[in-house]
Amino acid sequence: MKKRTIAEPYKIKVVEPIKVTTRKHREKAIKEAGYNTFLLKSEDVYIDLLTDSGTNAMSDNQWAGMMLGDEAYAGSRNFYNLEKAVQEIYGYRHIVPTHQGRGAEHIISKVLIENGDFIPGNMYFTTTRLHQELAGGTFIDVIIDEAHDPAADFEFKGNVDFNKLATLVKKVGAAKIPYFSLQANTNMAGGQPFSMENLKELSEYFKKKKIKIILDATRAVENAYFIKKRESGYKTKSVKTILKEICSYTYGCTMSSKKDHYCNIGGFLATNDEKVFTNAKELVVIYEGLHTYGGLAGRDMEAIARGIYECVKDENIAARIRQVEYLGNKLLKAKVPIVVPIGGHGVFLDAKKILEHIPQEQFSAQALTSALYIDSGVRGMERGAVSAGRDKQGKNIYPKLELVRLAIPRRVYTNLHMDVVAESVIEIYNNREKIKGLKITYEPEKLRFFQARFKQTSWRRG
Ligand SMILES: *Cc1c(COP(=O)(O)O)cnc(C)c1O
Repeated sequence: MKKRTIAEPYKIKVVEPIKVTTRKHREKAIKEAGYNTFLLKSEDVYIDLLTDSGTNAMSDNQWAGMMLGDEAYAGSRNFYNLEKAVQEIYGYRHIVPTHQGRGAEHIISKVLIENGDFIPGNMYFTTTRLHQELAGGTFIDVIIDEAHDPAADFEFKGNVDFNKLATLVKKVGAAKIPYFSLQANTNMAGGQPFSMENLKELSEYFKKKKIKIILDATRAVENAYFIKKRESGYKTKSVKTILKEICSYTYGCTMSSKKDHYCNIGGFLATNDEKVFTNAKELVVIYEGLHTYGGLAGRDMEAIARGIYECVKDENIAARIRQVEYLGNKLLKAKVPIVVPIGGHGVFLDAKKILEHIPQEQFSAQALTSALYIDSGVRGMERGAVSAGRDKQGKNIYPKLELVRLAIPRRVYTNLHMDVVAESVIEIYNNREKIKGLKITYEPEKLRFFQARFKQTSWRRG
């Protein structure tokens, strides 16, 4: 029998109209936005794939929970619901809510890092690394080489390279490494998972060295799904069970509930360690809010608590990844260079390969992001040299990966929207030689990708 279609495990109850604009309108809008899609007005965007962060559709159960917000300053019942959900699903004992992921990153960095420390990890994430640096640490990337190669079709590109790790430990000594920063489903590599085998090995290695693992659990459900799909011994286990096993090898986590949990805002820090918990509680009142709300409304904590139970249901995470694969496979079929394997939260266009005529110094991924917006009103995000920023000497970092990320919000768009996106990407790919490079005209000192401005250059290579 022919393989049957599996549809989304939900139906649509509320819709939000979106606007189709003209090409002329978009050309003007992107110019005014300094060729930075972060500076576009959302109303000028047709299909918004800037990020899957805080842009997801909550369920009726989550919305119903929003009405049950206990907005007491201290000891809100929604905090206790959130605490219980984290304990049950992630398995950590203590939790400190924060306004979003970076709030938790800020606090854990301040608690654990001392000036001159080194923090190895499986590729950087923008906000995570910055908070580590602001706390006086230096981030060291020890992900496997395959992660830096868009065309390397390896199933666990989020894995740690033990040779790189051992080299670092030997060079600086274990005492200078407060923790390993383990990112689930490595975002900047294209949404790529680590394997449980790699994590188990990491855990054994660090037990001997007495180094902690702090998990960036933001996309851990997606990672757990890939383990179920790809790793032997996990096929019959539920995503929920796999997620808990992942957490069990770690000392604590930071979390952005704007991703896996479908929420518009929120996050938390969780740990099993009493002392870290006490220190984190002391800091959260300074930077976020009292330790039972951490910058969140009671209703937000309730939405997170309910989202936590929802996101680990196999059918929900499977539907999410299936849609990402739907778009990715369309582009692969048209021979558009993208990161393979197709990742967990979006499709990543290989701008270096697509725009061979634009040198990386002219920010090819930023240029491709703009071109896509002009063609169809689809908004993506640069994840290349602009995002990588500058090193401590102030020199531009030119990462191996020069990508355009098309992140797909959860439960928001239909596959017809994905068809529109694919058609536009294929169209600009076929006319790629017309795209021009960019030059920076304004650049903030930190996290420049959010607010930098550009203008088009006329200079071309070759
Ligand atoms: C989004 C994200 C963060 C930061 O979370 P915010 O809620 O945006 O502050 C950290 N790590 C990863 C992997 C992310 O995707």
